[in-house]
Amino acid sequence: MDYLDKLNPQQKEAAIHKEGPMLILAGAGSGKTSTMTHRIAYLIKEEGISPYNILAVTFTNKAAKEMRDRVEELIGEGLNMWILTFHSACLRILRKHAERAGYTNDFVVYDPTDQKVVIKNCIKEHNVDEKKYSSAYILSIISDCKEKGISPSDYAKRNGLDFKNEIIHDLYLAYESVLKKNNAMDFDDLIKETVEIFEKNEEILAFYQNKFRYIMVDEYQDTNYMQYLFVKLLAKAHNNICVVGDDDQCIYQWRGADIKNILNFERDFKNTKVIKLEQNYRSDGNILEAAHSVIENNKGRKRKKLWTYKEKGEKIKYYRADNEKDEARYIAQEVDRTRSGELPYSSFAVLYRTNVQSRIFEEAFLAREIPYRVLGGIRYYDRKEIKDIMAYMRLVQNTADDLSLARIINEPKRGIGGKTLEKLRALASVRNESLFDTLADNEVMEGLPAKAIEGVREMIGAIRQFSQEKDNLKVSDIYDGLLVRTGYLKSLEILNTVESEGRIENLLEFKSVIYDYENEDPRLSLSEFMEKVALLAEIDNHDAGENAVVLMTLHSAKGLEFPVVFMPGMEDGLFPGWRAFEKPDGVEEERRLCYVGMTRAMQRLYLTSAEIRTLYGKTNYTKESQFLLELDKSLVEGDAIYKSSTTSDSNSRLNHGGGNDGYSNPNIFRPFDQLKYIKYNKTAEAAAGNANLDIKEGDKVRHSKFGEGLVLSIKGEILNVAFDSVGVKMLARDMAPIKKI
Ligand code: ATP
Ligand code: MG
Repeated sequence: MDYLDKLNPQQKEAAIHKEGPMLILAGAGSGKTSTMTHRIAYLIKEEGISPYNILAVTFTNKAAKEMRDRVEELIGEGLNMWILTFHSACLRILRKHAERAGYTNDFVVYDPTDQKVVIKNCIKEHNVDEKKYSSAYILSIISDCKEKGISPSDYAKRNGLDFKNEIIHDLYLAYESVLKKNNAMDFDDLIKETVEIFEKNEEILAFYQNKFRYIMVDEYQDTNYMQYLFVKLLAKAHNNICVVGDDDQCIYQWRGADIKNILNFERDFKNTKVIKLEQNYRSDGNILEAAHSVIENNKGRKRKKLWTYKEKGEKIKYYRADNEKDEARYIAQEVDRTRSGELPYSSFAVLYRTNVQSRIFEEAFLAREIPYRVLGGIRYYDRKEIKDIMAYMRLVQNTADDLSLARIINEPKRGIGGKTLEKLRALASVRNESLFDTLADNEVMEGLPAKAIEGVREMIGAIRQFSQEKDNLKVSDIYDGLLVRTGYLKSLEILNTVESEGRIENLLEFKSVIYDYENEDPRLSLSEFMEKVALLAEIDNHDAGENAVVLMTLHSAKGLEFPVVFMPGMEDGLFPGWRAFEKPDGVEEERRLCYVGMTRAMQRLYLTSAEIRTLYGKTNYTKESQFLLELDKSLVEGDAIYKSSTTSDSNSRLNHGGGNDGYSNPNIFRPFDQLKYIKYNKTAEAAAGNANLDIKEGDKVRHSKFGEGLVLSIKGEILNVAFDSVGVKMLARDMAPIKKI
């Protein structure tokens, strides 16, 4: 039991707790997740519990994978265990029982982009003004309803049917019927339908209750009502439920997370053992103090304070940039300056409030040739060509998926216009069959515009054939076959533009994603692959081990830790965002997010803001974030944090020389000033966009992501390059971030 010796007494007490409910409520970095991991190992190794009887739920696939790896390391062998996200766990259950909810078991999962397409169609069909009822607004209401188990008719009952509510009700109803008809579920459905199946089918619930005799949930503070029901139903039989969380880190209330779930846990589960952990193992003293000085300003919180044996360490660094470019340049420069060849790039993380901030950092990192990876943003999987090919793959999996067929019926161009599609839709609806079946009918096909017939016939033939043979084919073969037989690849080749080549490159890159999964599991089926991809939350990225600076939103960083953390955009309106001021607990939730961000840092924490920021096409002077003002100023060094002159207190918050308005006083010590004027290296920045015309076969090149490589061959604008790090890659000459060396 050596592995338990590293734990402190409270952690150990929790790790060896076997029967009965347990709540570990503790602050950031206190070892909650590690304790849970150790408990899983303990139950299996020491108590002889079968891994089959354990369910551990986390919030992201990355967290789940880390936990599985850790447990396997502690146990010393690979396990087939349910350490999963809520969505994946429910998906697994639904694959067996979806017919109880009126779906077939090979239903497809619609991600947010698909949802948007569906709701936009509904809005159009109902002649609703999208300016007044935007798709995002309607989807957020639908999602909110589903998380709370409110059906369209419940919605009508609860809210009454005035003009506005009637529109929302009708759209919700229409949206639901489209999904049902397409045999598709959205993410919210995955949990809701599972819960409903449990509630309506005693024997199914009993089976899973009996299977999952030990249940554990990480980040329980962020569970919503449906997730709570899911856990509660499963735990009812054996009562062996352990949840861990931190009320100060509840950051998903905007998505229905209910902090009450964790605060009322003791009431829900009688005789709960409560464990508090107070020692923080992650961050140096100053970072912990600083994070505490911010979160302290929240009124609705349980008082708790963490302590650490660690040194105070460095002070928090604050830099007030001239503008957002300068801010990004400063951060890239600090990565270079402080790395001194020792820290790997992956020690650095840039955590921003919104994805739109990421682009400027990409430019700055490219300019300094710093490898980076962006998690989230325009997700790789949201790119048009990837969505298109995925739509084809979905159709192979489930030909009833009208949404996917509508997406690709004229991708590539086959001469099917909007009007023809509408006619086909109407016909399918009259015949009460899928769009695919209607289109596959010879008579219908013959009636299509003459130029479209051949292409459509070929496409339908290919989809049908792959659909019949999908169980005998590798995913990569289906993928290749579809690209060729549907004419998709060819149409891009014919276009021969920079953009089309970039798309070809992405499609090739996607193949390596498929290969990665096939390497992990040579018998990977199409539906398994589709699930993996559909469930990739924004945090997940297939090359997670890469040595690169990580860029992601503060939300995605939950549960993670990095030696050096940058938090840019510390400005009112951005962080806290304007919207926070519209909701009662809005600013408090943003403050918790700030606390989450700060507590990701182990050794060094940078906060930055820009005096002038261009965002969403508007350029404005900014005001420093109120969270900066709340910071204990004795823990910060760098630029003075000042209060805007529009507020009553215009004193400097930092005592660097004791001026009034610290920012304009030239005598004030501002050690970071000198850095501002180091020239921004424009030429390197442009490297990504230059045409790389001089590259020849046999040349050595450097890629911003893959490092050094050798050009094996050149075909047109596509380079075949062998990289030491990742093997041979096909790259588009103009698009790839490469430079001859
Ligand atoms: P968060 O609230 O951010 O999710 P957490 O409470 O889950 O944090 P962990 O991620 O489990 O905390 O642990 C934080 C860090 O502290 C990890 O690097 C972990 O390895 C380390 N750690 C935890 N417990 C101990 C211990 N007893 N001795 C040494 N290091 C520890
Ligand atoms: Mg954790």
